[in-house]
Amino acid sequence: MSDSIAVIGSVAFDTLETPHGRAENELGGSATHFAVAASFFAPVHLLAPVGKDFPEEAREYLKSRGIDCSGLETRAGNTFRWHGRYHEDMNRRDTLHLDLGVFAGFVPTVAPAVRTARYVFLGNIDPVLQARVLEQFAAPVLVGLDTMNHWIAEARPALETILPRVDLLVINDQEAAELSGEANVTRAARRILAMGARSVLVKRGEYGAILFSPGSVFAVPAFPLEQVFDPTGAGDTFAGGLLGHLAASGEHSERALRRAIVYGSVLASFVVEDFGGRRMRTLDRDAIERRYRQFVALTEF
Ligand code: AMP
Repeated sequence: MSDSIAVIGSVAFDTLETPHGRAENELGGSATHFAVAASFFAPVHLLAPVGKDFPEEAREYLKSRGIDCSGLETRAGNTFRWHGRYHEDMNRRDTLHLDLGVFAGFVPTVAPAVRTARYVFLGNIDPVLQARVLEQFAAPVLVGLDTMNHWIAEARPALETILPRVDLLVINDQEAAELSGEANVTRAARRILAMGARSVLVKRGEYGAILFSPGSVFAVPAFPLEQVFDPTGAGDTFAGGLLGHLAASGEHSERALRRAIVYGSVLASFVVEDFGGRRMRTLDRDAIERRYRQFVALTEF
């Protein structure tokens, strides 16, 4: 068993519109944002289909972060594309266009060397595919899962079937409400725990995140930034920082989980500073540690 993390999810090209401007063809996708964030702490295997249009430069960038790209499978067709537009209140966004491209008909196969990964993150894709991937892993010690309103509405039975196998469900407050039928975040989380997830991390945009487990609740604020430029990828980056730090520490105590959540918040606070994943290209461990210390000071009393 290795202390590496396997992530399946989308690798995408995004068109992004925020109140601050617009960017096209940004390298994005749930698995990309997760993998880049996690790679600051632990070895990552990236599993996703890409199209023939996927440029070598993007693959080289991912490899330069130490990410194992052998599971980045080139298929006939185009890479997944997503076009999102944020409201003035950037906690809200609309999907204007989504093109599954090479995801249509994709059946993921996990290579034998990757099946022993102890940490598995099922990024935001069709829950039917998430389940197919999960069943290929030998004995993961921690399974994380992210989903979104689209899948809650379109694939609820598959999502409900996989929840009892999930240690950490990562969703935002609107998704938690949709999944549980409860508008109140605490009641929603309790309902989701009753559906089988062992813990649920509810992301609340600029208001931070709350981890609910059967026996405890832990809340972190978002790092106070003067300007959030583009929130895309914040959730996946949060999850990547969190699982990356957990895998690196090898501990699963409540304390280790709380520290990892703070690292997740720190990573997310960087990715929102620029379009897509641009900010991550210049980020280094020193800047992460500096902000981690600022974060600790901010929440100490
Ligand atoms: P986040 O802001 O963390 O929710 O993640 C945004 C990323 O998710 C973008 O880079 C998109 O490419 C990707 N994405 C958006 N919708 C979907 C979807 N239905 N399935 C898979 N990935 C998606």
